[in-house]
Amino acid sequence: MARIGLVAHDEKKDDICAWALRHKAKLSQHELWGTGTTGGRVMAETGLSVTLLKSGPLGGDQQLGAMIAEGQLDMLIFFIDPLSAQPHDVDVKALTRLATLYDVPFANNKSTAEAVLAAI
Ligand code: PGA
Repeated sequence: MARIGLVAHDEKKDDICAWALRHKAKLSQHELWGTGTTGGRVMAETGLSVTLLKSGPLGGDQQLGAMIAEGQLDMLIFFIDPLSAQPHDVDVKALTRLATLYDVPFANNKSTAEAVLAAI
């Protein structure tokens, strides 16, 4: 059982919900954690159970980063929108940095998400 973090910027929320629905059977065997809006949408659209953190811009990305630093997250699926400025860009950078530092499997886009999930 892996502990998987789910985050998507607004323009990518449809994509992460479609990805989660496609992999519902596999994801249901794992423990899912999500930033508030992303996690809420994944739950509503897939029926999967997701533990909700704060919304990303209100600290949810930082909460996921803290989980990584504490060894409490095994994988991060973070669909980043490369075409929009984010008010919490520093938090996005911090989360990216910690996922890199702690060598957590970390998917930023759909094809990488397919690959990392296939590996577990
Ligand atoms: P959200 O946060 O799921 O609460 O929208 C995502 C993000 O960090 O932008």
